[in-house]
Amino acid sequence: MKKVGVLALQGSVEEHISILKKIEGIEPIKVKTREELMEVDRLIIPGGESTTMGKLLRDFNLLNPLVDRIKDGMPVWGTCAGMILLAKKIEGSPEGHLMVMDIQVRRNAYGRQIYSFMIRKVIPEFSNEKIPLIFIRAPYITEIGKNVTPLLELDGHILAAKQENMLATSFHPELTNNTVVHDYFCNKM
Ligand code: GLN
Repeated sequence: MKKVGVLALQGSVEEHISILKKIEGIEPIKVKTREELMEVDRLIIPGGESTTMGKLLRDFNLLNPLVDRIKDGMPVWGTCAGMILLAKKIEGSPEGHLMVMDIQVRRNAYGRQIYSFMIRKVIPEFSNEKIPLIFIRAPYITEIGKNVTPLLELDGHILAAKQENMLATSFHPELTNNTVVHDYFCNKM
């Protein structure tokens, strides 16, 4: 069984856990402590509120251990707020959080919660079927470094990208019934 962690400080934790339960060979684990972080093979950082989650990462003394594990090659996937936490640069902020992925992000890039939306798109890296993508006060990527591969672009903005062991998506696959992106992260990264 592969142990797949979900950072469980705040945000859409249960939703990721229930999708992971649908994938064969996966043991989902909620990660709140350093010990739990050391136990998992890979980690999902969920959507939620990035400033709050960044503060909790520091308060729980998880920020540096998590940076170390990512730099050691542990696969990590940030959805929405999770993508903001991974970014080296957050527009308008002097400092980021984990700052491991060579992307610059714009928070709340589509405006307020009422401007949330869903689209269906094929993302060839994940599968050749159209998958539902839900955006809630979503960020997008405004700049990438040369080691970063964009996986989905819409109207000139990058909404999914990969760099070595790191995956970032602006959208929330955990809020759909579709397991394609979770399957990709668990089995193909
Ligand atoms: N706008 C949120 C933030 O900046 C992210 C929204 C989400 O994760 N759904 O943290």
